[in-house]
Formats: sequence, C-alpha cells, structure tokens
Amino acid sequence: MSIQPNETYILNLLKELLDTPSPTGYTGHIMKRIEKEAASLSVPLAWNEKGGAILSITGQDTSRTVGLSGHVDTLGAMVRAIKSEGTLRLTSVGGYMMNSIENEYCVIHTRSGKKYTGTILSTHPSVHVYSDAREFKREEANMEVRIDEWVESADDVKKLGIGVGDFVSFDARAVITPSGFIKSRHLDDKASVAALFGLLESMKRENWKPKYNVKVLISNYEEVGHGAAYIPSDIKELIAVDMGCIGDDLSCKETDVSICAKDSSGPYDYEMTSRLIQLAEQEGIAYAVDVYPHYGSDASAALGAGSNIKAALIGPGVHASHAMERTHKQAVLNTVKLLAAYVK
Ligand SMILES: [Zn+2]
Repeated sequence: MSIQPNETYILNLLKELLDTPSPTGYTGHIMKRIEKEAASLSVPLAWNEKGGAILSITGQDTSRTVGLSGHVDTLGAMVRAIKSEGTLRLTSVGGYMMNSIENEYCVIHTRSGKKYTGTILSTHPSVHVYSDAREFKREEANMEVRIDEWVESADDVKKLGIGVGDFVSFDARAVITPSGFIKSRHLDDKASVAALFGLLESMKRENWKPKYNVKVLISNYEEVGHGAAYIPSDIKELIAVDMGCIGDDLSCKETDVSICAKDSSGPYDYEMTSRLIQLAEQEGIAYAVDVYPHYGSDASAALGAGSNIKAALIGPGVHASHAMERTHKQAVLNTVKLLAAYVK
C-alpha cells in the first residue's frame, strides 16, 4: 500500500528551510534546525566531523542498510575583498551565473555573529551613468555588494566588523503560490531535504518500518563537490535525492520526480535505476528518466571517494536551477512516494 505524504508538514518545513540561510561552509544554523526536526520525529541523529547529519531508522531486516542523502547547503558567496569605496568584492561559493544574482538582496554574516543587509550589483549598475551598463560583462570581478550602512571607505566597512572571509547569503525569496508552485532560490536541494523528512514523518505517523535499515545523510558540502564523500560504511546502496533538471531535450516537468540515468559523473547503477522506474510505474507516480549533461550528485561524491556502494539519483524537477528556481508541490510529494516505495 502506498503512503500518504503530509503535504502541510512538508511545505511548512520546506518554507522554513528556504528562509534559513545556509551557503556551503556556513550551515551551522540550518543544521540546528535539522537536529530539532529529527528530534521531533524521534529519529536518532549523529554528526560527521564536517557537520553533516546522519539520521538512523531501524528496518525490519537489520542485515542491510540503504542510504538516502539530501543537501542543505546552497549556493552563496564569500567576501573576497573590501574595496576602497566601501563596497565588497565577492568570490562565489558553488557554481552559478553572475546575472542570476545581480540585483539580489543579500545578508553579510560576520564572524562575530552580526548581520548586515546589502544588494548585489554590477559595478556599472545604472544606465544613467554608464554607457556600457547593458553590455557590461556580468563576471565575478565586475560584481559587488552595496552594504546598507553609511560607508565611504574600506575602514568604515572594517569598523562594522565585516572582514574578508565573511559569508554572504542570497535572499531566497521563497513563495508558495495558491496554484501549488514553490518558487525560491535553493530548492536545490532543500526541496529534497523536505521530501526526506516527509518520508520520516510518514514512517512515524503511518507507523511503518522500512524493509532494511535506512540512514539519511543530510549533507552540507554538496555544492562544492564533497558532501557525501564520507558515508557510514554499513551503507550498501545510496540514493542521492537531489533536484531534477528541466529544459532543452530533457523530459522532466515541475510536477515529476526525476530519475537520473546518467550525469557527468557517468551512469548510475543499472538495477537501482531500473527498480526506481518500475516502482514509479507500479505506483502511478509521475516521473521522468533523464540524462543530465552538467551535473554531479552526492552519490557521485561517495563513489568518487571510493565507497563500495551502488548508487542512484532521484529528485523533484526544478526549473531554472541555480538561478530563480521553481518546482511544484506535486514533484516533492512524488519524490516522497517514490522513496517510500523503494525503502518499503
Ligand atoms: Zn543539489
């Protein structure tokens, strides 16, 4: 029998996660939230040394362990330099187009715990002033943060306590529309993390146990490539739960759970992928099988680091990923249903 995901629970948690800044390398706050959520579902949690969380659920048969991973770290930036006119030069954390963050509101998180708001702009930000404002190349060196404080020099900025190496998070602008769309930055991969908790919530509320032990890794360095480079050694198969790509010749829609057969790290496990497709068919879950040309997942990280596992990749379809993303709640619910079918 298929499970009934708790939509309200999943969407409320997702909104909260989206509203919590967590650029890769600055995930302490969101991990506290993950810890609280695991406790509320009575799921034991352990930490790896770099701050990722491992949630453990005992199966009916404890001879085998299935791993599921989702990442709470997101794209972001770091202060690379404080400029003489009192603006900040950035270095990106994770991979994205500069025009996807242009004009976005941001928060600078100082090492002493202060927060300042600002706006990310090109250094030629006005057509009234710069004749090349339209064509001006949007690249890292041509972008800066205008801080919402009265600063006219680098010293003024330093007096605020802002320094090189401080993290900068982007305003996620999370909105859930009446039509069921979720538009926000960082749905990659918070939509999947919400789906993973939706799975755990269903186990508790609907009172069912997975066939085998399940370990859920909430990873915190995926966007820089080594989120799941370490996984507990009892994990024999790993499903990375991460966003599905949409566009060009891909078939995934914003309502689908995507099953990725191959990405830039190579093909995923044949049997696991085939079984996921078969389960989606059996359970009537809207899905798409696709190949992602420019993509690597936490499963790729685990395999690349030498883990003796087989691995697959599924997740909610996300449009305009690593930019102004959007998915539909159906994609998140379909992801929960497919995960449940797999671990049941
Ligand atoms: Zn991701």
